[in-house]
This record gives sequence, C-alpha cells and structure tokens, in this order.
Amino acid sequence: MHASVNIEERRKKMGGSSEKNKNAELILIPSPGIGHLTSSLEFAQLLINRDNRLSVTILCIKFPFTPFADSYIRTALASQPKIKLIDLPLVEPPPRELALNSPEHYIWTFMESLKPHVRAIMQNILSHPVVGLVLDIFTMSMVDVGDELGIPSYMFMTSNVAFTAFMLFLLSRRMEDVFSDSDPDLSIPGFPDPVPPSVLPDAAFNKDGGYATYYKLAKRFMDTKGIIVNSFSELEQYAIDALSEEGQSRTPPVYAVGPLIDLKGQPNPNLDQAQHDKVLKWLDEQPGSSVVFLCFGSMGGFGPSQTREIALALQGSGLRFLWAMRSPPTSDNADRTLPEGFLEWMEEGKGMVCGWAPQVEVLAHKAIGGFVSHCGWNSILESLWFGVPILTWPIYAEQQLNAFWMVRGYELAVELKVDYRRGSDLVMAEEIEKGLKQLMDGDNVVHKNVKEMKEKARNAVLTGGSSYIAVGKLIDNMLGSN
Ligand code: UDP
Repeated sequence: MHASVNIEERRKKMGGSSEKNKNAELILIPSPGIGHLTSSLEFAQLLINRDNRLSVTILCIKFPFTPFADSYIRTALASQPKIKLIDLPLVEPPPRELALNSPEHYIWTFMESLKPHVRAIMQNILSHPVVGLVLDIFTMSMVDVGDELGIPSYMFMTSNVAFTAFMLFLLSRRMEDVFSDSDPDLSIPGFPDPVPPSVLPDAAFNKDGGYATYYKLAKRFMDTKGIIVNSFSELEQYAIDALSEEGQSRTPPVYAVGPLIDLKGQPNPNLDQAQHDKVLKWLDEQPGSSVVFLCFGSMGGFGPSQTREIALALQGSGLRFLWAMRSPPTSDNADRTLPEGFLEWMEEGKGMVCGWAPQVEVLAHKAIGGFVSHCGWNSILESLWFGVPILTWPIYAEQQLNAFWMVRGYELAVELKVDYRRGSDLVMAEEIEKGLKQLMDGDNVVHKNVKEMKEKARNAVLTGGSSYIAVGKLIDNMLGSN
C-alpha cells in the first residue's frame, strides 16, 4: 500500500492558494552522471535566479561507479544558498551482470531500490509547499513516488526534443516490438527524414530489458505535467511542432529552455591545474581556427587499434590537434597504441594529448576550428554555442540519432559516421583523414550554418528570447498560474 496520504487533500493544499506562490519548492532528482548533472544544475540555478518565489532541493544519488558526482554537485552549487542538498543513502547497486545485458535496465533496477528512500525524504520535506518533482530520464520512475504523494512531476530531458519524440514514438508500438537492423526506415514524428534503424540507440535492439525499459520510461513521460528540454526552438522547431500536433495532444507541454551550459567548467579529478594551464597555453600559441579538437565524452575513448588509426589520420592530415584520450600514453607504453614516433612528432608542436579536457574552455578558444565528437548532447550544444563545427563519431546511448539529424536533417555537422557504435568495425585512418579535411574546410556549408545557429542559441536565452519565454511559461505551469 502507498503511504497514507490523501492525494486530493494534498493537491488541494498545494494548488491554487496564493500562500503557495510566496514560497514554492521544487525537488530535483538528477542522475549522478556528469552528462546529466551539468545541465540539471544549470537548470536549478536558472529557476531560482529567474523567480524568487522558487527554491530548489536536490536529492543527491550516491552511486559507487560515479564517486565524483557528489563533489561535482557541491562545487557547482557552492555559492547557491537557495539550493538545498539532501543525500540519499548509499544502497547496494544491482549485480554487474545486469549492466552487461542492458545498462538501461540496470539503472532502472537501481532507481527502484531508491524509491523508498526518496519517498521517506519527501514526506519530511512536504511540510513546505512542494510544487513539483523534476526528474531526468533515468530517475523518471520516481513519478510513482510523486503520484503517491500528490506532487506533479516534470521531465527534465538532458538530451533533445527529437530524442524525446523517438521515446514517445515507442508508445505507438508494443513493449515486445524490439527493433531489428533489418527493419525498413522508420517514419518518426519529429524527424524530417525517414530514420534508418542503424541510428537508433542500443536499447532499441535490446531484448534483455533495454527496449522494455525505454518503453516504461516513455510511458512515464506521459504522466508528467511538462517536458523540459535542454534545447532551443530555433534548433528544434520541427520536433517541437511534431509533439504538439493534434495526434499527440495528450503529450505534456514541451518547454525548450536551453542551451543550458556550464560556462564556468567545474574542476575534474582527471585534470589538474598544471595540465589545464598547459593545454590553454598551447592553444594560445596556435593560429586562429587551425586546431582540431578530439573528445569523446565523459565515458568515451577507443581501444588501441582504433586509437592508432586516429593517430595515423592526424599525422596524414598535417592538422594541428588537441586530443582528449581517457588515458594518454606515455613514452614508455606509447608503442602499444600509437604509430612509431608519433609522440616525438607531436611534440615538435603539431599537437597535444590530454586525459580530461577543459572542453568548454577549449571550444571557446579562437584556435579551435573543428571538433571530432561522439555527439553527446552537451557536447553538441557546447559546440553550437561557440560556433565550432562537429565531425560526427557517435559511440553509445542516443548519439547516433543525434548525429543523424544534425548531419542529414539540418547540415549542422560533417559526417564521419552516424551509425558507428561500440563493437563496430574499425574506422580506418584514410576515412578519418578525409573527414578531418572536410571538417576544417571553411567553405563547407556546415561552417556557415553552425555560425548562424550560434547566434540563434545565444539569442534564445536572452531576455525575450525563445528559451527565456519558455521558462516563464514553465514557471506559470509550476505555480499554477496558467
Ligand atoms: N567533458 C569535458 N572534458 C572531457 C570530456 C567531457 O569537459 O574530456 C564534458 C563536456 O564538456 C560535456 C560533458 O563532459 O559537458 C559530456 O557530456 P555529453 O552529453 O557530451 O556526453 P556524455 O559524457 O554524457 O556521453
């Protein structure tokens, strides 16, 4: 049985009264991964800076495999007294084998085990008027806790509107209808072109719980009072329109409130100050738009054979480069991954390798002319924000779908691969070198399109811009004044 709360009473207590609007609290439960925390924390700060009736409490999930999440939250919010942090207890994560079958199912199971703790904490907080529970895709099942306590939930999508549309598209199928590579191209609302199955997320093909988890998550999207997306309408009007069309009328309202980017850049345990300064000093010495930046996200990186092909391509292209590798080789072990003499050649001034890159600062630097990216959504927004074109190399999650519509739908990125995923065949040096040259060719129409989108992104968040207006509408929705 649910906690003994009369939902109607609770709703009445929280709805409509002017008392409520004097001090309204939101509870955020972000997933503990860097790619989710960055925009969630920016969003929390945006809300409290925008409307002084709002305050925010963040429930911090402890997850043994992302120990850094905790200090990340605390550093990012150090100067925000209006944002309260409450730690959830560390619970035993599910067995690792579950993650091998399907990371999505694993996370779902982990979140289920957190529900009683979330419920207990929320019952204590409920002495304040709580107007909403803000959840991201992986904490989405907490909608159930919100429902039990009579608190409306909002979805905070750390990816884009097109991906949201894909998730909702699953609901037009059955939970058993796992996709197959041999399916014909799909007509998905929100995508201007038919979508080849090869660019769908891994989970779409996963019979061991991945597809079913996506399906269950998508169902929860529909139980929210609003879908907040880290995107902006000038970039995704097509998908926004698709979700608000007649046939989709049950879809909760979509609020594109981005780009939400952490422009300060938080310290990272994999990047010490000396290395940070070295990277930026080296960039300072390079000519404008001459350097290609390679970085594959917070979990990205390649095995030795693929690393070697990339190195050969860089040598062949003759371009200057900054390459974020998870574990950069040293002169003692370089011969196991890199072509002979690569490090010596690089140190003549051609390039730099590092572990964790200060990505936002790097993309903001005038020396950067192009970005080879795994197409994580934060990376895409950051590159658009600074007007740096991307060469697409998706690896996991929904990155193939992102790469696909950026390249094929809107000419906002240069294509290396749109359907690469972990376990794909090697991408050979020759192909990479060709892609690098196309990326750095200033006459490529992508450069012009990206510069235009940069202006649109910046205007969207200014007072009166599309995202600014969307935030106002969202707050009206939250405070019950619409
Ligand atoms: N990032 C960084 N340095 C790195 C790798 C990643 O600063 O070496 C940051 C990047 O700027 C972005 C985030 O980590 O904000 C990665 O998020 P994204 O959505 O692009 O990919 P994910 O890591 O979630 O796959």
